[in-house]
Amino acid sequence: MKYDIVIIGAGISGTAIANALARYERSVLVIEKSNDVSNGASKANSGIVHAGYDAEPGTMMAKFNISGKSLYPELCTRLDVPYRKTGSLLLAFSDKEMQTLEELKKRGDINGVQGLQILDAPDVLDREAHINPDVKAALYAPDAGIVSPYELCIALMENAMDNGVSLWLESPVKNIRRSRRNYLIETSGKSVESSCIINCAGVYADTVHNMLLPQMFTIRPRRGEYFLLDKYAAGQVGHILFQCPSAQGKGILVAPTVHANVIVGPNAEEISDPDATETSARGLKEVWETALKSIPDLPYNQVITTFSGVRAEPSSGDFIIRDYPEMPGYIDVAGIKSPGLTAAPAIAGHVVEMLETQTGKMQQRSAFRERRRELPHFHQLSHEARRELVKKDPRFGRIICRCESVTEGEIVDAIHRNAGAKTLDGVKRRTRCGGGRCQGGFCGPRIIEILSRELDIPREKVRKDNAGSGILFETAAEEVYHGTV
Ligand SMILES: Cc1cc2nc3c(=O)[nH]c(=O)nc-3n(C[C@H](O)[C@H](O)[C@H](O)COP(=O)(O)OP(=O)(O)OC[C@H]3O[C@@H](n4cnc5c(N)ncnc54)[C@H](O)[C@@H]3O)c2cc1C
Repeated sequence: MKYDIVIIGAGISGTAIANALARYERSVLVIEKSNDVSNGASKANSGIVHAGYDAEPGTMMAKFNISGKSLYPELCTRLDVPYRKTGSLLLAFSDKEMQTLEELKKRGDINGVQGLQILDAPDVLDREAHINPDVKAALYAPDAGIVSPYELCIALMENAMDNGVSLWLESPVKNIRRSRRNYLIETSGKSVESSCIINCAGVYADTVHNMLLPQMFTIRPRRGEYFLLDKYAAGQVGHILFQCPSAQGKGILVAPTVHANVIVGPNAEEISDPDATETSARGLKEVWETALKSIPDLPYNQVITTFSGVRAEPSSGDFIIRDYPEMPGYIDVAGIKSPGLTAAPAIAGHVVEMLETQTGKMQQRSAFRERRRELPHFHQLSHEARRELVKKDPRFGRIICRCESVTEGEIVDAIHRNAGAKTLDGVKRRTRCGGGRCQGGFCGPRIIEILSRELDIPREKVRKDNAGSGILFETAAEEVYHGTV
């Protein structure tokens, strides 16, 4: 088996590059160790499309933040992914923090961020009623926005596959060898040859790099924990509210999400295990107490879940996007920490240019399918449109998730698309089923039935997420399960 280009890792970096390459006459394979796309840092982050004043001028982070941000409106429309410009407020509570606002405004101006403005306290409180009245000023960035990060990854991969890109899931790359002019990539199950490799392995990008080249950088995992609040808390905040950054990162934010929840977090904790995505009582306490400084009446009784994500902190301090003369066709896209989500669409374009420099101009595919196949957003339809849809397919008349009003028709559609859902979490990330107040307590058993039926696997084989997350272990009494869907 041979491909022109193999991408290792199906996070936002890998899927954005796959999507950009799908426009060209090249065979492309994405290899992912997890059982779904977007199962690394790209599923568990703040979902902010950053304005671009944080990064040091002249760094790749600054450059790709600005260019990536500008690609978002068109990209999200093309792929039917929720994205909204909300604007952000960086809050200052002391004279020292006022100075930080001035410095970051200057930095933003140099980076090319448009419309930055320092607002005084009355103006800040006028815009956000729940902000701590002790606020002294805020740096307002009108073009910061919010996006659903995992829905974007899924959409990028689905559209890439609609245009001929292949995907191997549950295939951890174990070894890479250089064989004459090609590379031989060995996964746990099978091997594949390729002329080019793009390493987008997130917290494991240094491990993948070291399979071929001497060690040149390391990646340190740094965890961030979050609370997600129910939609009843949506009125608490309209902008993304940041506190002043520290050496550890951008600090703890309170922000709306594209699905009208409120997100609170993250802290920053150096950890040794890159896969340690559990939350801790200590970490969550720190997040909540710090967030209260921005919004003192943040309602704890509206918390519906907690989660954490792991940043890939590069030893260089900046994104590592580079090739190597001694390894033609091999490119590292490593150390993609924040603002990596914002930067990804621009990084993808840059990687295409790097490949063209190495392998020659690539020919555009004549039949590239720009748009994603239409998604059935049942809860957004008019009564008339719903009636029509149910008439065509009665599964759209059956609500499975009451919290988010998701129908059986939408779940079945999400399972059978390219890069479709195979697990409960996969269904949740694609349809919101189980993402509401009850967190799957009501709809979970029904989704197990649907996944089992549609994937033609026993119910005991349906998992919540990766291996080891089985839900049912044996059938105790057949009639208990019959007819639930
Ligand atoms: C707490 C937190 C908050 C953040 N907030 C923001 C934000 O608001 N805005 C923003 O712009 N950025 C944010 N970021 C940064 C952003 O999330 C990352 O930059 C981005 O998700 C990195 O994407 P990636 O594809 O490079 O890595 P990942 O999403 O981690 O993907 C890497 C993939 O490679 C796979 N992989 C690893 N090793 C192998 C192997 N051997 N074989 C096959 N596959 C392999 C993994 O399973 C994974 O799916 C945040 C990050 C964190 C952790």
